[in-house]
Amino acid sequence: MTDMERFAGKKVEFITLGCKLNFAESSSIGRTLADAGFTRCKRGERADVVIVNTCSVTDVADKKGRQAIHRAVRQHPGAYVVVTGCYAQLKPGEVAAIEGVDLVLGTNEKINLPDFLNDVDRKRASGEYRVSPFREIREFRPICSADDRTRHFLKVQDGCDYFCTYCTIPFARGRSRNATIAETLAVAEKAIADGAKEIVLTGVNTGDFGRSTGETFFDLIRALDSVEAEVRYRISSIEPNLLTDAMIEFVASSRHFAHHFHIPLQSGSDTVLSLMRRRYDTALFAHKIHTVKALMPDAFIGVDIMTGMRGETPDCFEESRAFIGGLPVSQLHVFTYSERKGTKALDIDYAVPMAERRRRNEVLQRLSDSKLREFYKSQIGTEGTVLWEDSRSGGMMHGFTGNYIRLERKYDARMVNIFERVTIGDGDATPSFLKNV
Ligand code: SF4
Repeated sequence: MTDMERFAGKKVEFITLGCKLNFAESSSIGRTLADAGFTRCKRGERADVVIVNTCSVTDVADKKGRQAIHRAVRQHPGAYVVVTGCYAQLKPGEVAAIEGVDLVLGTNEKINLPDFLNDVDRKRASGEYRVSPFREIREFRPICSADDRTRHFLKVQDGCDYFCTYCTIPFARGRSRNATIAETLAVAEKAIADGAKEIVLTGVNTGDFGRSTGETFFDLIRALDSVEAEVRYRISSIEPNLLTDAMIEFVASSRHFAHHFHIPLQSGSDTVLSLMRRRYDTALFAHKIHTVKALMPDAFIGVDIMTGMRGETPDCFEESRAFIGGLPVSQLHVFTYSERKGTKALDIDYAVPMAERRRRNEVLQRLSDSKLREFYKSQIGTEGTVLWEDSRSGGMMHGFTGNYIRLERKYDARMVNIFERVTIGDGDATPSFLKNV
């Protein structure tokens, strides 16, 4: 019997939480399952198998994971419920104890998830593999998957060796690893041949690409830029210490790389950065931002920032807020710190009360809104290239320019996955964000 016959007629539902990497992995697993005969559930249909791909970046993420599992069990009675992702890897016992969960798979096993779906009725009856034995996290496969819209996500790297004191991701995702440039390039070229026009380079610590193959991230972006095609790349996120000046110069004059950066800062206080064991200080961070802006004044720069880390006194927070306030960045992604079992940050005595962590989050959120508005306004009258996405809402479709300005236009199926040159602020090309202010 072929795989196609074995799973023909079976329906699968995915619930994916967390980062772009998780979405890319769910999408890739979905493609393998479709090749094996599964079809995706339509709205209101009951699934035979539900896959919940979880995140564990904060306590809130764990809670959302539990809620998603309860929802899956409620909405798909009788389905075989598989839970994987970082929450499953870090707390397999806790996940297995949730009523209705049939199988818990670790990060390594997630890659081979379809293999675990053979013979599920017998496995369920015998209770076999309730929690699959987790092997050391070593596997890596570059994948390129489209989300529900138009953008493709190329997984170039996984894992992290940095062990920042607040973070559990190295435990959940394993050590830094990647495929070779040649293998990664082949996956990107196949996606481009299949119609991908925008590819986002993703990883846990993307700039660390090359650690396991003796290559560098810079070599990778040069190789990708040499592809002869109508394509645009974005670098999803890169640690400031790994974003070299040479790389910034390269992006500025590259053919295919968007003027869009996402650089985690986490704190604008050197005291807190050192408690976090981050590998840079505010001087280095500010240098990177100013270098980007000097070479690409139109660049969009998103910045991750955390509030309420242990040791973040009111003075440290104020220092952090003032530092970010003075930088020409475009948007902040603000996270509230939560205590994670097994992390070194728990050894720091000074803890910020939860209400204060949330207040600081709101302060930075407001700062982010004003930075975004400022950035969009500064781009009015400039030219950009928008890629219209396969999205439809209230008769409208949307797309992003290379420097990440979100624009809307009347839905027109012929424009999906098409690049269009626009002047920002002209008619339909007014950023959606500014239409609402
Ligand atoms: S760089 Fe730090 S925050 Fe990012 S995944 Fe690695 S340990 Fe976590």
